[in-house]
Amino acid sequence: MKKRFLTVGAAALAVTFGLTGCGAPGSATNPDAAEEEVPAEGEGPYSLVVEENPEFEEGTTMAELSEAGSMTIGTKFDQPLFGLRAPDGVPEGFDVAIGALIAAKMGIPFDGIEWTETVSANREPFIQNGSVDAVVATYTINDKRKEVVDFAGPYYVAGQALMVLEGDDTITGPEDVEGQQVCSVAGSTPAATIEQEYGAVVVPTDVYSKCLDPLRNGQVVAVTTDNVILAGFVDQNEGEFKLVDGGATFTEEPYGIGIEKGDQAFRDFINDTLEEAYDDGTWQRLFEATAGQVIENTPEPPAVDRY
Ligand code: GLU
Repeated sequence: MKKRFLTVGAAALAVTFGLTGCGAPGSATNPDAAEEEVPAEGEGPYSLVVEENPEFEEGTTMAELSEAGSMTIGTKFDQPLFGLRAPDGVPEGFDVAIGALIAAKMGIPFDGIEWTETVSANREPFIQNGSVDAVVATYTINDKRKEVVDFAGPYYVAGQALMVLEGDDTITGPEDVEGQQVCSVAGSTPAATIEQEYGAVVVPTDVYSKCLDPLRNGQVVAVTTDNVILAGFVDQNEGEFKLVDGGATFTEEPYGIGIEKGDQAFRDFINDTLEEAYDDGTWQRLFEATAGQVIENTPEPPAVDRY
């Protein structure tokens, strides 16, 4: 298999290209994964142990969802590695696995989860109006968003990067896109950053996959969003695109699980669930089964922020 390595992000993650992308969960091709893999023993595509009759204090979101045996999770449907809808209609990726982990802790099996597509701009409204119980969707924790929703996590830290056509050597960093057309997604942190801090002219769309044709056609000079999202597109479209400056990042994007503002018990429960998964190797196993199929080195999980 042809392999070439590219560094993405401050954490110096090496991305392996030439793999088939997000393969079957559990069939890690990451060499580290094979050695450290935690035995899979549970149910569903991520082999998670679904709690049997977990007990929660009455009146909590956990009690309500656990009793119902189902929950609705918002995620992306067009982002390889984190949330990509498979041909059977069910999404897969690291965000999906994290959502499934939280559900399993409440006794909800994978097929008890209803997946709703959330795009960058509708995540807060969907949480606020109760369309979803939680959002796990490459969702950066920041103060502006915290005014209207709450976040558990972070469970991963990405960083903003730029993607250009494979043969383009004119753009070497975000300073080079000043005054130029760059595609990104409305309501995302990278769209705001590239416009406000680097003076790019943002050509907005609703989902990142819709930026690929404008880049191919020369309508924009670059696409910008988080390194791991772009790495998924580079991997899926072999030979067409590349990350600028080896995937160098110029922001930090800590990914959180968005929930209703003020639901402290639910936030604590999700944070406890993440910490347990960090400690027992489940987080690492889920990463390696999903995004780790392309991002070669599994990072250390970030400390949760119980703000
Ligand atoms: N993490 C960034 C954000 O939450 C970019 C990725 C996305 O739009 O989902 O805005």
